[in-house]
Amino acid sequence: MSQGCAHPALAALVRRMADRRRDGLHRSLRGVGPAGGPRVIVDGRQVLLMASNDYLGLSRHHRLARAASRAALAHGAGAGASRLISGTLDCHQQLERQIAAFKKTEAALFFCTGYMANVGCVAGLCGPGDFIVSDALNHASLIDACRLGRATVKVYPHADAAAAQALLAQAPAGALKLLITDGVFSMDGDLAPLPELLAVARRHGALLLVDDAHATGVWGAGGRGSLEHFGLAPESDIIQVGTLSKALGGLGGFVAGAAVVIDCLINLARPFVFSTAAPPAQVAAAAEALRVVEDEAHLRHKLHGLCALLRGLLEEGGLRLLSPAGPIIPILVGDAHRALAMGQALLAEGVFAPAIRPPTVPQGSSRIRLTVTAAHEEADMRFAARAVLRAAREVGLCP
Ligand code: PMP
Repeated sequence: MSQGCAHPALAALVRRMADRRRDGLHRSLRGVGPAGGPRVIVDGRQVLLMASNDYLGLSRHHRLARAASRAALAHGAGAGASRLISGTLDCHQQLERQIAAFKKTEAALFFCTGYMANVGCVAGLCGPGDFIVSDALNHASLIDACRLGRATVKVYPHADAAAAQALLAQAPAGALKLLITDGVFSMDGDLAPLPELLAVARRHGALLLVDDAHATGVWGAGGRGSLEHFGLAPESDIIQVGTLSKALGGLGGFVAGAAVVIDCLINLARPFVFSTAAPPAQVAAAAEALRVVEDEAHLRHKLHGLCALLRGLLEEGGLRLLSPAGPIIPILVGDAHRALAMGQALLAEGVFAPAIRPPTVPQGSSRIRLTVTAAHEEADMRFAARAVLRAAREVGLCP
């Protein structure tokens, strides 16, 4: 059938997409070509990239690229089977020991992506009869995980530990209780109030799960993440999820925690059990990235210096930022059409940071989310600030 719209089901899909266009919520893929460092080619033009989660600039680090290519040449392109069949290679187990040592936990389990780690962990640990309390701004992968597990799920207002406490108090006797939060919120860039949340979890006998996708490699003196930032010991009642896809420059996710938690996940985490093991190149890049995070602390220091510089320039220009520190710098615009217009204006100024709209953020809170990486330089921050302020003026966001 050549004319898809003649089919009633396809016609319904066409109408759904038309509705999204009307609301400013339709998305399409935009090709981005590398142009060296933090620059990319968009629509045939070289622009400054301010939208990647490659916080330490490791995705193009020579040590990771070399480790990945050596592993592919030595061990092949694929693992051949899921981990529980014949896909567990030495490199997977070495990486898991390395992650556990880095996160200072008893054990760790590697997943092919961070999304799979969250889904596998939450749905693997909590099923019907169990009780989950979750921050309203947690990442989509945690939300999907809660749905898949079919435990009772209660959502507390963002970062409100007192509300989390009140909800945990409703858990039925005997339920396994899990309090889940992003360590750093992906679209707002703020840190969760972990000391308060941990106290609440402990008062109610709950496990605390922290999704540290945006904190690993970035926060804490050793880049160990949000627990280290707050000076909290990674005790056995804390589960840390992380991704190797952001500051660690490659692809993959992990869960780090008590040995019994990892044992449960090996048995019950469906994205782990029923999916092919990660290929050696991916694993080797991840292992090398962890070494770079330990060896090259200067990258993290540079990153935080650049973040402070850009944040200061934007605030001096009259913009209000949604979070006080760190490489995720969101500028609230509100209306989706207006956020799109600001993203376009920014691109015309030579900066690529597309609008973030629902369902990635709540209705009415569309925004421009700028991200800084250690691959940027101070001159890039000044260039970006000028461009952002001009684009913000164009859409009437600041004087
Ligand atoms: N958690 C959070 C908070 C995230 O922002 C993301 C990625 N956007 C993930 C998990 C998923 O990680 P990955 O991209 O490795 O699947």
